[in-house]
Amino acid sequence: MGSVLIIGAGGVGNVTAHKCAQIPEVFSKIVLASRNIEKCRKIQQDVKEKSGRNIDIAQVNADNVSETVSLIRKVNPDAVINVALPYQDLAIMDACLETGVHYIDTANYEPKDVPHFEYSWQWAYHDRFREKGIMAVLGCGFDPGVSNIFCAYAQKKLYDEIKTIDIVDCNAGSHGHPFATNFNPEINIREITQNGKYWEKGRWIETKPLEISIDFDYPEAGVKKSYLLFHEELESLVKHIKGLERIRFWMTFSENYITHLKVLQNVGMTRIDEVEFEGKKIVPLQFLKALLPDPGSLGANYKGKTVIGCVFDGVKSGQRKKIFIYNVCDHAECYREVKSQAVSYTAGVPPVLGAMLVINGIWKGKGVFNVEELDPEPFMELLNRHGLPWNQVNFQSSILEK
Ligand code: NDP
Repeated sequence: MGSVLIIGAGGVGNVTAHKCAQIPEVFSKIVLASRNIEKCRKIQQDVKEKSGRNIDIAQVNADNVSETVSLIRKVNPDAVINVALPYQDLAIMDACLETGVHYIDTANYEPKDVPHFEYSWQWAYHDRFREKGIMAVLGCGFDPGVSNIFCAYAQKKLYDEIKTIDIVDCNAGSHGHPFATNFNPEINIREITQNGKYWEKGRWIETKPLEISIDFDYPEAGVKKSYLLFHEELESLVKHIKGLERIRFWMTFSENYITHLKVLQNVGMTRIDEVEFEGKKIVPLQFLKALLPDPGSLGANYKGKTVIGCVFDGVKSGQRKKIFIYNVCDHAECYREVKSQAVSYTAGVPPVLGAMLVINGIWKGKGVFNVEELDPEPFMELLNRHGLPWNQVNFQSSILEK
């Protein structure tokens, strides 16, 4: 039995709160805190309706370390799940350090004024977490998160040597809006408009945004154009999967999505610097976020599926093996279960499973860890039991071979 403090009441926080409530044998006490208490209240009501459980709520500005420290002292949780925005990561880690509480997140730190994410800032906390005797689990969403776990599982159980990894992420769903992002628009657009990057033979190779694409045949979703992006798990997997020759990340976008994005970029609406408008300073991308549908509101009419997984190519007992491990998630089913679409669902369930393993002492460690450094097997088992079942098949296609 344990208690958890969830910070962030957006699309992902909603799923995390519902899922914790479904597992009372581990999460006997749940507190959901966010900047806007009304969003917490709405989730609190929905959780009561769906699972019959009462969760507590609180208001917190997690940019402010002392506010978060006071809240943690009041709640006294066994772990903090951070599903606010990447901007808050370091401040919440500072609060966990001060109070001696385990930390779990789903996205790596990114400064507000620079569209650049990397692990160095969070890895720099390793010694302080170790000295304090607590654990930080980084990147425990779906990708990063489950994608890293699939890699750790392949390394541990399926291969002697993994040569290449291709992470493929397909959203074949339709929400009925002309343009919307499936998770926080600011974070999503900052990610996609950056240069692409992949790792091959010991070095990073940079590409223009959305310059390289392939037509990948996704199980249950069919052939979809998938674009090469830089995604944060590549940085840690290159370090932790031994003998790797190449790793890439691919994500699907429709023609319609890309056309909207190009126009928004061309007219300056994706800029993250301040511009003067009628005597006020505004950041165009933040203004755009205010105009776009809230990702949390997309669920009600969302149809179709997400398919996310990893294709491995490597050697086992002297024989070449190509294996695909993936999950398929249905938007409408997620909505029925927790009033969320599948993108929030796939991101919001894994931190709950990570927190379970930390609270139950199955994932143990002092310091800062990426999920692939921890034992993948208990996590793979929990995925099957808590709504994200996975499949493992031999991969037949040559689409990923150059
Ligand atoms: P949303 O924008 O829907 O939600 C973010 C929430 O955090 C909002 O409730 C927001 O409050 C709250 N918040 C923002 N700033 C603060 C603050 N200073 N203090 C307290 N609360 C704050 O985003 P999502 O739910 O879509 O995404 C949440 C996180 O999940 C992001 O970090 C995202 O990158 C990550 N993610 C990870 C994925 C993965 O697979 N690894 C996939 C998808 C998302 P307010 O309402 O006041 O703005």
